[in-house]
Parts: sequence; structure tokens; C-alpha cells
Amino acid sequence: MDKRHIVIGDRVNSSLVVLREGVIVVDTSVDEETAFKLHAEAIGSGKMLYVINTHEHGDHLAGNGLFECPIISSAVAREQMLAGNKPPALPKLVFSDRMELFLSEQVVLQHFGGHCPGAAVVYFPERRLLFTGDLVFAGRMPYMGQAVFKTWLAALEELERWDVEQVVPGHGDQGGIELLANQRRWLEVFIERILGCSMKGQSRQEMLDQVLSLHEVPERWHSMVEQAIDRIIKEYK
Ligand SMILES: [Zn+2]
Repeated sequence: MDKRHIVIGDRVNSSLVVLREGVIVVDTSVDEETAFKLHAEAIGSGKMLYVINTHEHGDHLAGNGLFECPIISSAVAREQMLAGNKPPALPKLVFSDRMELFLSEQVVLQHFGGHCPGAAVVYFPERRLLFTGDLVFAGRMPYMGQAVFKTWLAALEELERWDVEQVVPGHGDQGGIELLANQRRWLEVFIERILGCSMKGQSRQEMLDQVLSLHEVPERWHSMVEQAIDRIIKEYK
């Protein structure tokens, strides 16, 4: 059986998985140009079955309007899309905790939250293949502007127990199961540092300066880091 999957994009990953009866697309890219590429690749690979949005952030939804098949997301992700910047097309099918598709192979969609309210994963058990959405950023600082850290860490801990061989993150290169532990440890170290600073009575500016001295953070992400610091202190106080 054809067990192909293709990952398109460098800044943001969008993927297609080829099943016997057609194609499932996971996330639809950050910009139109990449979305058109993804769409061409998908329709060239078979009948379009479903598009799945792993979460509500716009950098994963640019091509939502291109596909003539139902879009699926977690119910929370759809609510968040409606409340925020609406994508070109909204999901037509939603699930609360978990949804399974029984096609020529099983497909599992599970909602976790943590990275953002609607964050979910897509899992192909027979391939031992996991699409994490933005619960995993490989080799770079994760976006934490809406993070609920305890939920995020619990999600990664659970996913580390799943039978997985290949991991496709929301951002960064695909790899093995180690991507899950790497992301968990990164978050744990980040949280420990912030709490350490907080115990010493440092100001938020001092904490921000420390983060900026340790990581390459683009200017546009400074306020995201400040929000993450506030969220950590609130969650762990
Ligand atoms: Zn993203």
C-alpha cells in the first residue's frame, strides 16, 4: 500500500497524506503561494478526502478556501477562528475530545489545547506517524502567546506514550519521537528559568532581558515572550 506523506513549507509545515482512497491534508499553509503548491500536489495525488486544521492560528489556514472537501478541526479551534481572524473557509466538521476516521486505515484526531485553546494532533497509528500541529516546534522557540503550560506539558507527556515513530511538527524539520521530549524539556527549562528569576524577585523586564540574552527572539515576538512570562508566573504561583 502507498504510505506516502509529503511535508510542504519551511516556516510552517503543511502536509498531505496519501491513503488508498484519496488524500488528507493537514494544515493549509502560511501564505497563498505555498497553499497553491500544496493544493496542486494534493489534487495530483488522488481524490481529496478531508482537510484537517490542527489549530486556529492563521499561519496554518491560508489555503483553507482552496479545497473542495470538508474541513475538520476541534470544536474549540472553530470557535476561536470565528472569534478571531476568520480563515478563508471554516471547518464543517468538529470534534470535542477525539474523532476517529475509519478509512483504508484508521486516523485519530485528538484535542489537547496547551499551545492554544484549540490545539489538536492527527495520528496515523498504522504508520506510527504523528502530526503535532504547534504542540511541537522543532529546533526553535515555540510561540507561547496563548500557552497554558501545564496543559501543554501534559499533552506532550501523553503523546510520548503513544506508539509513534515519525513526528511532523507545526514548525521545523520532521523527525522521530525525540521531538516530543525535546519540546517538553525546552518548555520545562524555560519555565524553571522564569520561576528562578521570579524567586529572586527580578522584574519582568529583567526576566525578558535574560530570555533575550539566551535565545534569538525576533522583535515581533518580544511581547509574546512577555505574555509567556506572565502566564508562567500566574500558573505556577
Ligand atoms: Zn504556527
